[in-house]
Amino acid sequence: MKALVYHGPGNISWEEKPTPVIRDPSDAVVRITKTTICGTDLHILKGDVPEVTNGRILGHEGVGIVEETGSAVTEFKKGDHVIISCITSCGKCAYCRRGMYSHCENGGWVLGHLIDGTQAEYTRIPYADTSLYHIPPHADEEALVMLSDILPTGHEIGVINGCVKPGDTIAIVGAGPVGMAALLTAQFYSPAIIYMIDVDENRLAFAKKLGATHTINSAKEDAVKRIMSETKDGVDVSIEAVGIPDTFDICQNIVRPGGHLANVGVHGKKVELQIQELWIKNITITTGLVNTNTTPMLLKTVTSGKLKPSKLITHHFNLNKILEAYNVFGNASKENAMKVIIEP
Ligand code: NAD
Ligand code: ZN
Ligand code: ZN
Repeated sequence: MKALVYHGPGNISWEEKPTPVIRDPSDAVVRITKTTICGTDLHILKGDVPEVTNGRILGHEGVGIVEETGSAVTEFKKGDHVIISCITSCGKCAYCRRGMYSHCENGGWVLGHLIDGTQAEYTRIPYADTSLYHIPPHADEEALVMLSDILPTGHEIGVINGCVKPGDTIAIVGAGPVGMAALLTAQFYSPAIIYMIDVDENRLAFAKKLGATHTINSAKEDAVKRIMSETKDGVDVSIEAVGIPDTFDICQNIVRPGGHLANVGVHGKKVELQIQELWIKNITITTGLVNTNTTPMLLKTVTSGKLKPSKLITHHFNLNKILEAYNVFGNASKENAMKVIIEP
């Protein structure tokens, strides 16, 4: 089969690899019908995730059709349409029993990281029963690709960890797919004011269409000054969805006493925590890798049409043009790209 293979920072190629086979009884092999690229794949390409080694097939998002199942798989069979979760969970270890699938002792985020991933014609999914989701008949498969990672990430690690409530004033820093997923899912909880902060005018304009009430281009104006002058004492919730010290800094400087700072971004460098200002403010800082425990709920909202993540899709590519797709997603500002769909 053909697959997108990582060969060290800045080096990927579209090449021939052996088609995966069932290795363990709980495995399924899935034929990919749609996949995509994540901001985290760009972090991998930059060398920020050194656990990814030479020869790894990238990708942790996608939908497909079950090709084959191991003898222990009971919930899926050949021909089933499925969403692949970016988090693999065994369902049995202590972390899984706590609903913290991200830290599954036998899985977690392994796809396109520690084992071969979804940017290929076929992929092997360990613990298929607890790592795949059935796609209901007539569902929009494209929209469901957003359920592999970005929607549960924005929702769980941004909105739920940040405790967004009706009437809140919130700020989301980073208007990429993950920040946009936080923007869409925050609206389940009816915040009154949603600030979106980014350096990309196109993305800020897009955020307005998706429900942001205020936008700030932090390359052009001081986001902290503006928010502190427009709110009495800062925001109830700041959500960091970039993963660099500057944006974490904005988040810690705009949160009001008693508020929440929810970090979502993957960081490659340390940040300076202003504990001398924050200690007295009774704030909560949370971090996290997505658990995907809200995926079943999100699936209902997408299939009913309440949540419309297909709005985030800007580009389509054939699977064998995936290097072009990386080029476009990697130059998102210039290309006006948000989420790309890649399909055979
Ligand atoms: P992305 O690269 O598409 O988006 C990042 C956005 O940040 C862009 O719109 C960019 O213009 C903006 N930005 C860059 N520098 C900025 C600055 N100085 N000030 C303001 N905005 C700035 O990435 P994405 O796919 O949306 O992912 C966002 C982050 O979430 C990444 O760090 C990604 O690795 C991380 N992530 C975390 C999890 C998790 O489980 N915690 C899961 C998926 C992704
Ligand atoms: Zn991802
Ligand atoms: Zn587990």
